[in-house]
Amino acid sequence: MKRMLLFFVCLLIGFNSYAQNPNDQSNLIMNLLGETPIEEDLQELCDVYGGRVTGTAVNIESVEWGVEKFKTAGVEVNKELFNISSLWIDNATIAKVSGATNFTPKVVAKYYSKPTPNKGLKLPIVDVGYGTDEDFAKVGDKVKGAFILVEADLCLDVDGLFEEYSNAAMIDARAAKAGAIGVLNMASRPKKLLYRFIASEGADHGLVNLVMAREDAKRCQRILRNGGDLDFEVKLEVSKEKESASYNVIAEIKGSERPEEIIIIGAHLDSWGLGTGANDNGCNVVMMIDIARQMKRLNIQPKRTIRFALWNGEEQGYFGSWGYVKSHRKELDKHIMTMSVDIGSGAITGFFTNGRPEMAAITKEVMQSVSGLGAKSILDIPIVGTDNFDFMLEGVGNLVASHKPFNYGLNYHASSDTYDKVDLEALKVNSAIVAAVTLGFANLPTEKVSWKRQTHKEVVDLINEFNLEFSMRMFGVWKDWESGERGRK
Ligand SMILES: [Zn+2]
Repeated sequence: MKRMLLFFVCLLIGFNSYAQNPNDQSNLIMNLLGETPIEEDLQELCDVYGGRVTGTAVNIESVEWGVEKFKTAGVEVNKELFNISSLWIDNATIAKVSGATNFTPKVVAKYYSKPTPNKGLKLPIVDVGYGTDEDFAKVGDKVKGAFILVEADLCLDVDGLFEEYSNAAMIDARAAKAGAIGVLNMASRPKKLLYRFIASEGADHGLVNLVMAREDAKRCQRILRNGGDLDFEVKLEVSKEKESASYNVIAEIKGSERPEEIIIIGAHLDSWGLGTGANDNGCNVVMMIDIARQMKRLNIQPKRTIRFALWNGEEQGYFGSWGYVKSHRKELDKHIMTMSVDIGSGAITGFFTNGRPEMAAITKEVMQSVSGLGAKSILDIPIVGTDNFDFMLEGVGNLVASHKPFNYGLNYHASSDTYDKVDLEALKVNSAIVAAVTLGFANLPTEKVSWKRQTHKEVVDLINEFNLEFSMRMFGVWKDWESGERGRK
């Protein structure tokens, strides 16, 4: 299969005229598509280390692993410290349904859910349908002091995921307003699959908020709709830490002509702990390592400096990349392009250019050399939800790779996000695409760099133009922007 792939690639890739040595780009592509240790790296990261929640010991071990990988490849590397303002760790979740029936449902607390009092809670469950305004109006006062049970349709794709996030944010707001104590969200995925969700408004979330296995939630719903009464008993023990610290892994290949100008490509090393962080985002972590390794091995010298970032603390609210922009603020004017790869291992179809028409135009040009590998589309809309975010708020040109959905939605943040779900063939091609685009930007002639870092006003205009407030609230990052903690001054 691989040899076949190589043959087609010879036909498909064009030479990029921007390459310092025109052979560099095609060499890099061919080598990344050939035999490399990318699969072994991914097995090690997912199977041996496993889930890597920021704040746990295994997360720090995986940081050391990342450092070692770059070192072994001969690439200069550092651990860079950053702060997390609100770590939340669930130590125990014990739940029971009682009343018209008695059983132990499968549940998981949303990240940042409010803990229960030490003795736990026992409260009635109120069926609120899908949790729309009309649904809440129908049940009226019954919601006060109760757990609401919210229905969800099956959701098996990426679009559905974002709809689920945004619905949850609206339902949480209605539930809080109506005086509910807790929310039981019917899982949108079948076969008792549980997944971790971040609660709306982040660390400020004020409800006891859980996801209940779809089949268990349906069972409760049927009983309630048949006139039975149910209580939900739960004890959720959480440790919270303020001002915890962790590390990003930042590797670097120095630019030969304009070393002060920087291109960053990155993927987040941390994951949630139910699965082993394979499609989210181990596959793209090992891609970063593989690209750096092959560039070094082939002695490719980019004109601008390329940094390879293994971000950390992403799942809690992009704390690692936020930390980076704070500690490198003086260099940000010289950051030419930053790219995040965080939407799994489905084939890359192109890039989001995040509301920057001038970035869209140049990315299209740079991408031409790999259009034969499937990267063709430009979506010039801003992505909120991964490590491009703080670069966007700082006005730095930023890209996010867009992928075919392969296996991503169904296993997203779930116990089923494991090595066997990764599309290994596509991952190889993706690494070639990312490497070619990265090198294209690193070697772009100065006169082609037409965009500048945006001013505070331009960032404000971007946020308004694309109505980003709602999604920023949904991901719990609006307050930090509004208060001036985050983003360009
Ligand atoms: Zn991710």
